[in-house]
Amino acid sequence: MTNYSFEEWKKVASKISFRNKAFINGKFVEAKSGKTFDSINPATDEVLTSVAECCQEDVDFAVEIARKSFQKGSWSKMPPAERKAVLLKLADLIRENLEEFALLDSLDMGKLITDAVTIDAPGSAAFFQWHAEAIDKMYDEIAPTGPGDLAMVTREPLGVIGAVVPWNFPLDMATWKASAALAAGNSLVLKPAEQSPLSALRLAELAIEAGVPEGVFNVVPGFGETAGKALGLHQDVDCIAFTGSTAVGKLFQQYAGQSNMKQVWLETGGKSPNLIFSDCNDLESAINMAAFGIFFNQGEVCSANSRLLVERSVQNEFVERLAKIAKDTQPGHPLHPDSKMGAIVNEEQTKRIVSYIEKGKQKADLIIGGEQIKVDGKGCYVQPTIFNNVNANDVIAKEEIFGPVLSVIPFDTEEEALSIANDSEYGLAASVWTDDLSRALRVSDHLHAGTVSVNTVDALNTVTPFGGVKQSGYGKDLSLHSFNKYTSLKTRWIKYKA
Ligand code: NAD
Repeated sequence: MTNYSFEEWKKVASKISFRNKAFINGKFVEAKSGKTFDSINPATDEVLTSVAECCQEDVDFAVEIARKSFQKGSWSKMPPAERKAVLLKLADLIRENLEEFALLDSLDMGKLITDAVTIDAPGSAAFFQWHAEAIDKMYDEIAPTGPGDLAMVTREPLGVIGAVVPWNFPLDMATWKASAALAAGNSLVLKPAEQSPLSALRLAELAIEAGVPEGVFNVVPGFGETAGKALGLHQDVDCIAFTGSTAVGKLFQQYAGQSNMKQVWLETGGKSPNLIFSDCNDLESAINMAAFGIFFNQGEVCSANSRLLVERSVQNEFVERLAKIAKDTQPGHPLHPDSKMGAIVNEEQTKRIVSYIEKGKQKADLIIGGEQIKVDGKGCYVQPTIFNNVNANDVIAKEEIFGPVLSVIPFDTEEEALSIANDSEYGLAASVWTDDLSRALRVSDHLHAGTVSVNTVDALNTVTPFGGVKQSGYGKDLSLHSFNKYTSLKTRWIKYKA
């Protein structure tokens, strides 16, 4: 499977049939307005399909259906072991359709097919499996009251969850929300990003095949300012689970205040620092992982290690060797198995990245890259780009670029490194490279970040919570902690004659 040639992947891709309508109440339906928007392949500029453009009235309909399904109880009150079996089946179905899911994301937003088929699609199946397996292993509580009092604390699903997700990992971001929200017994209205709606629509269809009752998992493709806003302002949505930019995250907080005070869980942007100390003996791994930390997924990763803080005594060697890797990481067609980096999601994001590169060129030393390119005369691609000797206060070191652009910032002392690392409005992730255990623990104590990886980058797994601090948001996906977002605690206090 994973050793298809370029020609074979293109052949499989040419046969794929796109689900392009909204998915409400277990059926594919047109948007009520009849409007559609184009889904474009950023690798080739070709229109893949036209997708139903949901607006307020479609969101209203989906929420009404989701509420009815929740109240009916066929999912929310299904015995945990049965709900588990259904979601395990869904995990199996994703595995059975791995190539299709990988292609949907690769065609829709330009990621490498080799990554999509080995990381994203199997990851989605694993996330569903993990949350499914947890369902019938979680117990409720009896509070430590005195005799004659029985206080039971039970976890209940919230009701209707609105999930709004970005385009960088379309299937996995949808899965992070859906797997936990559904496992907890909620009904869901998911709005995928307008740049990448296709895998979420297929996922919802497979959920029905797995046995999720109709109306429990609904998908409303559309734009943020219309469909996303309608979900945020809806009076009958109990919770918004959002992953996306910090600016839009703040809008969801406002929407909640303007409507029904729904819970809003935010997983937002980042500008993650990667700290290289000269006492790291395995510089080879540090260099390879620094490259992975910024060039994986074209740098379109919320926790991308986009600030490389390197101790001045190893700076020259580190940057020189990193530049060699960057040279070998040139973008290519995402379906070509030999390509090292794929396409940027669209023209707008490409222009945004290029505008940051132009600002960087005015202030820092451009070591490699720095250009937008075409592959076979087409598409949206940006070269892997490294700026050296960046001032920590420059715009390229401060703002999230969301592209393959690295800012190298030298430091002389641990204290200085920490001060630069923490001087950010974001706090999603950080990495530290050192062979001194005390330093590893001390530095990770002081780093303001949701995840600190030591002698690796971007450590992430289903078993640990993922999310940030500061303006990277406060919601946690993955692990048992993710259930906190989708459940509320009920206390029932019973008096009895002891
Ligand atoms: P975005 O904020 O533009 O869009 C995210 C979602 O919000 C999309 O579905 C979009 O349609 C919707 N939206 C946009 N404007 C809206 C509005 N006015 N009202 C309601 N909804 C609206 O983000 P993006 O460009 O799709 O994704 C990139 C961002 O996502 C980056 O900042 C990245 O760091 C962040 N991200 C964070 C995590 C995390 O776990 N912390 C993971 C992946 C991506």
